[in-house]
Amino acid sequence: MPNNKIPFLDLITPHSELEDELISVFRDALRSGRFVGGPVVEEFEEEFARYCDTKHCVGVSSGTDALRFALIAAGIREGDTVITVPNTFIATTEAITQAGAKVAFVDIDPETYNIDVNKLDDYLKKSHALDSGRSACVPRAVIPVHLYGQIADMDSIMEIAQKYDLVVIEDACQAHGAEYFSQKGDCWRKAGSIGRAAAFSFYPGKNLGACGEGGAVTTNDDDVAQKIRMLRDHGQAKKYIHGMEGYNGRLDAIQAGILKSKLKKLPEWSEKRRQNAYFYNELLCNLDGLVTPYEPRWVKSVYHLFVIRTQKREALQEFLAEKNISTGLHYPIPLHLQEAYKHLGYKEGDFPVSEEIAGEILSLPMYPDLADDQQRQVAETIKSFIQTY
Ligand SMILES: *Cc1c(COP(=O)(O)O)cnc(C)c1O
Repeated sequence: MPNNKIPFLDLITPHSELEDELISVFRDALRSGRFVGGPVVEEFEEEFARYCDTKHCVGVSSGTDALRFALIAAGIREGDTVITVPNTFIATTEAITQAGAKVAFVDIDPETYNIDVNKLDDYLKKSHALDSGRSACVPRAVIPVHLYGQIADMDSIMEIAQKYDLVVIEDACQAHGAEYFSQKGDCWRKAGSIGRAAAFSFYPGKNLGACGEGGAVTTNDDDVAQKIRMLRDHGQAKKYIHGMEGYNGRLDAIQAGILKSKLKKLPEWSEKRRQNAYFYNELLCNLDGLVTPYEPRWVKSVYHLFVIRTQKREALQEFLAEKNISTGLHYPIPLHLQEAYKHLGYKEGDFPVSEEIAGEILSLPMYPDLADDQQRQVAETIKSFIQTY
């Protein structure tokens, strides 16, 4: 089999199929002189809200801003505590801190790698027993992260949130179009339509990516949507009338036009990712010491990443790199052990599941246009590693 280079990510092919359309987005912006805000941003917001089955979508400048604005708009204040998981990109916790709140971690489920709902319930039970009042120790919000494109167990999370009066903000930055079967509602629900609000990122490498930076908040809550529209635009609902201080956090018109054009392809791209995931599963099943992703019956993952596990992670990654196959680590150091969070006082052993998987996970090449031959080459290389070591 030929040993062609297999990149981890392909940001060329999806744009070459749409090149003429994307260039015309830029030309239209130049000819209309509308670069920030305007009809193209509104059109994209409407179409993305429809895609996510939500009442509102507010375009912002990044996924990080989307998370921060969602927290602030949902009423999180200075000194509040917000729960999330240690195995996420640092943007999740940065947004909590930037909203003025304090980060608290809860460990993850060893099969789905998303928040462990039993541990969440235990944590809340304990913090409420310690303090029956409304002090800062009692968490006010939780951010479930739909990691790798797979939705967290939202029925359980919403039930726990109701019991403990928690705001739920979904981190859907890796999960555009992912679905979850809600037993409560007896229907499939889209990522971003279940919590009070949700954050999406349009960073180029995400399943729906801009040609630059971008993000969005989706919500069914009119008040939250209105506040986010103000937060992204210096606190103004009307020009130079500032109800509050806000930020410079808007989505620009060129990115909105590009996203609008790429959104039409997203269902097809997600389906291709799922097909690629099935094929990987077929090629990699029953290999000694290798764990493939677990997709429960109640979710439809959009496979932002295809992540396997092995105790020989370092050696396998090196072996693949020697054979021209690029891989990634999402994420190698859990957040509670990062230098940036030393002040929170967590130590090794606090979140054993997150710590264990951080040393074993390996993200394989995954994108819509990944070819069968490329997948076979990846799988053959992994098999020959397992036979050799
Ligand atoms: C990408 C990402 C973010 C941040 O999005 P940006 O657009 O890069 O700011 C937040 N959370 C998760 C889980 C992400 O993957």
